Amino acid sequence: MTRRRIRALFLDVDGVLTDGRIYLDGTGRELKVFNTKDGHGMRKAAAAGIAVCWISGRSSPATARRAKELGVPHCLQGVRDKGVVIARLARRLGVSRAEIAAMGDDEPDIPLFDAAGLSACPADAAPGARRAASLVTRAPGGGGAVREFIEIILKRNGQAGVVTRRPA
Ligand SMILES: [Mg+2]
Repeated sequence: MTRRRIRALFLDVDGVLTDGRIYLDGTGRELKVFNTKDGHGMRKAAAAGIAVCWISGRSSPATARRAKELGVPHCLQGVRDKGVVIARLARRLGVSRAEIAAMGDDEPDIPLFDAAGLSACPADAAPGARRAASLVTRAPGGGGAVREFIEIILKRNGQAGVVTRRPA
């Protein structure tokens, strides 16, 4: 049996692309810290023909800004039911379950895992997410977990040689 190549990567944002902390100032402005190694990983994924999609339950201009900077083609925020959204997006992208990889760090991400052929969570994910995911990365959220997962996907896809020199 030939394994289908992963063609879409669904990522939760808080706790996956960040360490899960949200910095708030008194005026309601929000700061998040993103990791450039994850950013470069997403560029590699895109260069390998993988559609990168961010799905966040929250809504933050910082997330939109980083997604734009990286050229992430699908950045969905304020998502109440991630299962519904992923199904809709998968149909639009024309990808089957076996072609989807997903990463999340908490219970609202379990529908994301269910919709994916390969799922992962960062080392410091909530226990329910760790139990539900196919694999747990060594790196924590915001600490390179996304990069680690992307390298695993590229290797599994037979695309480990994909290198891109554009900075993240
Ligand atoms: Mg999260």
